[in-house]
Amino acid sequence: MKIGLIGLGNMGGRIAKHLMKQGNELHLYDVNTELLEHFESIGAKIANSPKALASENKYVITVLPNAEIVKQVVSGEEGLITGFKPGSILIDMTSSIPEVTKNISKELEEQSVRMLDAPVSGGVKRAEKGTLTIMVGGNEEAFSEAFPIFDMIGSNTMHVGDSGAGHTIKALNNMISATTLSVTLEALAAGIKLGLDPYKMLKVINSSTGKSNSSENKVAQQVLSGKYEGGFTLDLMYKDLTTAMEITDHAKVPAAVSNSVYQLWEYASSQEHGNKVDHTVIAKIIEKIADVKF
Ligand code: NAD
Repeated sequence: MKIGLIGLGNMGGRIAKHLMKQGNELHLYDVNTELLEHFESIGAKIANSPKALASENKYVITVLPNAEIVKQVVSGEEGLITGFKPGSILIDMTSSIPEVTKNISKELEEQSVRMLDAPVSGGVKRAEKGTLTIMVGGNEEAFSEAFPIFDMIGSNTMHVGDSGAGHTIKALNNMISATTLSVTLEALAAGIKLGLDPYKMLKVINSSTGKSNSSENKVAQQVLSGKYEGGFTLDLMYKDLTTAMEITDHAKVPAAVSNSVYQLWEYASSQEHGNKVDHTVIAKIIEKIADVKF
């Protein structure tokens, strides 16, 4: 298939390579020219603007840092909207803000272009293997039409509702994920201070009711090892928590637990170079507050 893709970072770059391996013809754009040169050297076609990309591709995927950048790529100068032909589909895999998504979707609809919000979960490893979870909001016919693309990128794709529904679930999922990571590290900090071995604690937790994806796949691998290289930055998690807080506010859910977690991550992002460090660096903040070494 001919597919356009914008945003070749940790996730988008891996999704693009996986789609190329599957025999698709990829047409790419990013503001980072080094990334473009790399992808050109391995056989991808490069566009010089989102407009140019949209004018040649019926299906365009965006995997961008945040809602504001998606808006700019769609509606800014030389934006996608100025290039799309009627009938095209924009698949936004960014973890974005539902209200912004609904507005962009309406704007595109006026040009007979359909938008699906299709954020992903599973991180860089599953992006590489094409086994991501994809939660899709928007027009169901567009979803069916784009399904063959989703099927190559993910192993668990679900249509979850109208425009914005995918982005809503994604932010709420990461609210849970940030919470389990934070609370597991707090438990470990307390145990270490009382003389317990963190590896033994984790072994118990991972075969007990306290286990989570964070305890199974992040704490030993990124924190106790000192690697801190999961491929998902602290700022991106903080962004998702900010969106989740807007969603719980809007739904009038008090969210006392996740509000505390949000405050911890807000503090972390003010202390660290959040766009350069992995989100598991939250452990260093807990180390500092608790006066403990993981
Ligand atoms: P990243 O920062 O590694 O990549 C973003 C890419 O977008 C970069 O290559 C950057 O140059 C490009 N970009 C920025 N502004 C642009 C513009 N105006 N036009 C074109 N390209 C532009 O981020 P990532 O980790 O790949 O995350 C991308 C999205 O996926 C985010 O919304 C994130 O929350 C979400 N996500 C990430 C992960 C993960 O594990 N990294 C997992 C699930 C979801």
